[in-house]
Amino acid sequence: MKTDNPGFATLAVHAGAQPDPTTGARATPIYQTTSFVFNDADHAAALFGLQQFGNIYTRIMNPTQAVLEERVAALEGGTAALAVASGHSAQMLIFHTIMKPGDNFIAARKLYGGSINQFGHAFKNFGWEVRWADPADPANFESQIDDRTQGIFIESLANPGGTFVDIAAIAEVAHRHGLPLIVDNTMASPYLVRPLEHGADIVVHSLTKFLGGHGNSMGGIIVDGGTFDWSASGQYPMLSEPRPEYAGVVLHQTFGNIAFAIACRVLGLRDLGPSISPFNAFMILTGIETLPLRMQRHCDNALAVAKWLKGHDKVAWVNYAGLDEDPNNALQKRYSPKGAGAVFTFGLKSGYDAGKAFVEGLQMFSHLANIGDTRSLVIHPASTTHRQLSEEQQVAAGAGPDVVRLSIGIEDQSDIIADLEQSLAKI
Ligand SMILES: *Cc1c(COP(=O)(O)O)cnc(C)c1O
Repeated sequence: MKTDNPGFATLAVHAGAQPDPTTGARATPIYQTTSFVFNDADHAAALFGLQQFGNIYTRIMNPTQAVLEERVAALEGGTAALAVASGHSAQMLIFHTIMKPGDNFIAARKLYGGSINQFGHAFKNFGWEVRWADPADPANFESQIDDRTQGIFIESLANPGGTFVDIAAIAEVAHRHGLPLIVDNTMASPYLVRPLEHGADIVVHSLTKFLGGHGNSMGGIIVDGGTFDWSASGQYPMLSEPRPEYAGVVLHQTFGNIAFAIACRVLGLRDLGPSISPFNAFMILTGIETLPLRMQRHCDNALAVAKWLKGHDKVAWVNYAGLDEDPNNALQKRYSPKGAGAVFTFGLKSGYDAGKAFVEGLQMFSHLANIGDTRSLVIHPASTTHRQLSEEQQVAAGAGPDVVRLSIGIEDQSDIIADLEQSLAKI
C-alpha cells in the first residue's frame, strides 16, 4: 500500500497485507502450520527472551493472524492488536491482564447477554467482582469506584436495543480515577464508531459479528490504544513490574505504547491458550475487506425497515436510534453519524403468542441467536434467550413478551420488508 494517510475503505482492503514474498500470492495465505523453524540457536533464544519479534508457535503468533491484527489496529486507530478465538476469550485475556483476585471492575448494565454471564458468573471463580452501572449515567460508574477498582467496561452501541453510549463522558470518569476504559465495539464496528478517538484505552471485538460479517467464523480481537499509563499507579503489576516468566522484563518499560497488547499475548494468550485458527483469521480478513460497504448497507436497510415498522398498525413501538424521534438519536448523531447499526427491537401490540407466531411466519429471515450476518436474522427473546426469567425480569431486561429483535441483513430492502409484511399479516 503506497498511499500516504489512506482512508478507511483503503485500510479495510490493504492494511497489514502485502504480496507473499516467496510465492507472490496476492491474497493473504492461510499459514496452516503449528510451528516455525528458527534460523539458528541464537535466533531461537532471542525469540523466547522477547528480545526479537518472530513466529515460534501458532498458539502465540502466526503470520495470517498478524495481518488480521494489523488491519483491525489500523481501522480502530490503535497501536497494536491481538486476535484470539472468540470475543469472550478476548474479554477474558483483557481482564486477566488487569485483575487480581479481590479486584473489581465497573461494567455497563446493558451488555450482550453472554458478557453479563461471563462477568457475573465465570469471573467470580477467579475472584474478580463486577459492579453494574447504568450506561446512561456516568456518575453511577463513579460512585462505585473504590481502591480495588481496575477498569470500566462499556459497549459503544449496546445490546440488545441498539442504544449509543456517551463514551467521552465515561472515559472522563475512568481517567479521573486513573483507570482504563475498555469499549466493546462489536455492534458498531470501527466503520461507525472509533472509541479510541473518544477517550477509550482498549477496544475489544467479537470478530464473529460485523467484522467477519458472513456468519461463518468465530474470532475476537483486543486493540491497544497505546495511550494509557500502566506504570502511574502501581496497580497493574503485569505491565509495570519485572515478569518472572521473562527473566525480569518490565513490559510497559520495554514495549511502551504496545505493552498492553504484548502483555495479553505473552502472559495471557501464551498461558491460557485461546488462539484463533489461521483459517478463521483468513475468513475474517476477507470479510473485513467489504466492511464499509456492508455496514453502510446494514444501516440503510435497518433505517428503512424501522421507519416502515413504525407505520404498521400491528406494531406498538420501535426502538431504533436512527429514527429522528428516538430518545437516543442525539447520541447517535454525535458518535455514529453514518448510521445507527443493523440491530434493533420492536414490540407487537399483541403479546407472547403473537411474537412466537410472527417469528415462525417469517420466510427469508433466519430465526437464530446471532447478529451481524449478511442475512437478516430474528429472535423472540421471551421464548428463547430470556425464557428462564419471570415476565417482570424479562421486561426489566428489555425482553418483554412483546419484544422482537432484528439484525437487518444486506438483502434488497423490498424483500426484507415484504417478508416482515407477510408474517405480520398472518398474526
Ligand atoms: C457476540 C458478542 C460477544 C461475544 O463474542 P463471541 O465471539 O461470541 O465470543 C461480545 N460482545 C458482543 C457485543 C457480542 O455481540
